[in-house]
Amino acid sequence: MTPLAKVIAARIARTGPMSMAEYMAECLLNPEHGYYATRDPLGRAGDFITAPEISQMFGEVLGLALAQTWMDQGCPASFTLAELGPGRGTLMADILRATTSVPGFRAAAQVHLVEASPVLRAKQAKVVPDATWHDDISALPDQPTFLVANEFFDALPIRQFTRDAAGWREHIVGLTDGALTKGLSDAAPIAALDHRLGDTQPGQVVELCPALPGVVGALGAVIGAHGGAALIIDYGDWRSLGDTLQAIADHKPVDPLAQPGEADLTAHVDFETIAQACHPAAMSRVSTQGVFLERLGITQRAQMLAQRLSGPALDQHIAAHRRLTHPDEMGDIFKVIGIYPPTATPPPGLAQ
Ligand code: SAH
Repeated sequence: MTPLAKVIAARIARTGPMSMAEYMAECLLNPEHGYYATRDPLGRAGDFITAPEISQMFGEVLGLALAQTWMDQGCPASFTLAELGPGRGTLMADILRATTSVPGFRAAAQVHLVEASPVLRAKQAKVVPDATWHDDISALPDQPTFLVANEFFDALPIRQFTRDAAGWREHIVGLTDGALTKGLSDAAPIAALDHRLGDTQPGQVVELCPALPGVVGALGAVIGAHGGAALIIDYGDWRSLGDTLQAIADHKPVDPLAQPGEADLTAHVDFETIAQACHPAAMSRVSTQGVFLERLGITQRAQMLAQRLSGPALDQHIAAHRRLTHPDEMGDIFKVIGIYPPTATPPPGLAQ
């Protein structure tokens, strides 16, 4: 048993089974043993690798897309340049480097990072020293806000439910002979799932992310009132169906209950919930990551960088471009959406 498994088992023994969302929150952010709270899991040597860690091109084209959006909105003289869950800070560092050539952009930008993990905050401070850190998105200042979030929403805890003839049975984590085991609560109606009664059958699983409407609502409020835009990149679908909870340790899938605190836990993001929560801001079309990056000119950027490379470095660069954009790699499974003021045009690459 991992140290966190013992803590969770003791709590269940005291107060009863917990929801999958409570379990996931403990696994990821328990201050003493949580996966993100205690380590840097990213990169080739870590448990999983993300787009900004694959190639600098990802942050470069995203940075230029944000700068274009800033210009399209009249170059506001003071604005927030923000990121949710910045990991190692690589994406924001690449955005800042790529936008140094955009006149006025850097001077007007105040960098704000929303990060729960003290270990990752320390990493971010090394590459983005002039940032201000927050625990929560609601602390962002009231001004135009240009924001990115890559693989942040998939780390927010989800509740899971199985449809039953009489309502919904929640997936819970309990104890059997001292070991953590999955169970189901008694069936009950769940108001937040009424809209799923029409498109599900008994036996099917649906998920709810309780924190998502608050985070997206705060984003929609600041962007709707002051201008700006958010680019959200994540795994997901318009209306999620089925059990999408995934645990990864050392680049391999593992049982979500097997190694609490030592495996990453993620779930697919439900884009319909984002669309419903982002008012008064608007949500763009959903694009695949591959099409979005192509529209932003990643291939031209790749060709420019390739001119300076040869041998294994060139091979690695070509593989990175393919990995980010090809439908068989990250190109199709990752989706991108923009949130923007209804009076403005959508960010580049996300117009209808
Ligand atoms: N965006 C980075 C890292 C993705 S991993 C990249 O693409 O490489 C998820 C990130 O979100 C980590 O930095 C993690 O510590 C942070 N995180 C997870 N849950 C959070 C929460 N509830 N509040 C703030 N940050 C959170």
